[in-house]
Amino acid sequence: MSARRSIVILALAGTVFASPLSAGRASPAPVVVAPPALSAWCTELSQQLKSVHHEKCVARPWKFETTTAGGHPIPYLYWGKDPAAPGPSGEQAGPRRILVVGAIHGDEISAVSAVFRWIDFLDRTKSDSFLRAHTFLFFPLANPDGFYSSPRTRTNGAGVDLNRNFSTKEWDAQAQLFWKKKASADPRRFPGKKPASELETQVVEKAINEFKPDLIISVHAPYRLVDHDGPIAFPDMQSPLPIRTLGAYPGSLGTYAGIERNIPVVTPELPNARQLPEGKAIEQLLLFIMKSKF
Ligand SMILES: [Zn+2]
Repeated sequence: MSARRSIVILALAGTVFASPLSAGRASPAPVVVAPPALSAWCTELSQQLKSVHHEKCVARPWKFETTTAGGHPIPYLYWGKDPAAPGPSGEQAGPRRILVVGAIHGDEISAVSAVFRWIDFLDRTKSDSFLRAHTFLFFPLANPDGFYSSPRTRTNGAGVDLNRNFSTKEWDAQAQLFWKKKASADPRRFPGKKPASELETQVVEKAINEFKPDLIISVHAPYRLVDHDGPIAFPDMQSPLPIRTLGAYPGSLGTYAGIERNIPVVTPELPNARQLPEGKAIEQLLLFIMKSKF
């Protein structure tokens, strides 16, 4: 890995939760990273998306270590319990760790909005909500170069579909072949020349390997369904979106984490890439997923 590409995701132990990450309240936590870059990130996003409130955004303890080739940071945010805390008495496990990734595809704008809405929703939950028993790690915008290009692109700045670039076991044998034979060499689905060749893919892989999530939620659009890979049992209630399994692709996050690492990956495909569903549907989607057994 070259110096340009080096990524350091902070270990969760100590430093992160030493800051007052109390129940998601906007807190004046010690600023670890360059404020101007994060302030600019919030400004840019709030100009693009109604769901991003500038003051709220800058008040959150975002962190980032990575800037893309296009010059955009990839900030992340911890929310909730210190994962080292023991669970309530009688409960087997302590807090569960949930990694939430928005817009691995840069033209799926509603995915970014969904992640911001979920963070706001968590802030509003009551102190005894079951959601507060968990630790979330949010990456609202995993593909900023695609998001900010004009027109927006599914791929990143190098023309790689990040959701085909994860270093799955058979990547070398399968990814290019699958792209040529099954995806008709569609440039929107180009997997890259090497597994995890892209900085953005490396950021998500690092987060998986260091945060060690019990569940990954990767938000996409516009197919109006909930897909999943890996071991998860959805709750016995009406799903806000139809549950459908689309199958696994070489180099996809679902294959990398769900199939090869046994970490359940839930992939909501929102009904519209530009707009969030009306009303409380987006909050209900998070509740539905979080009521699953994983
Ligand atoms: Zn997508």
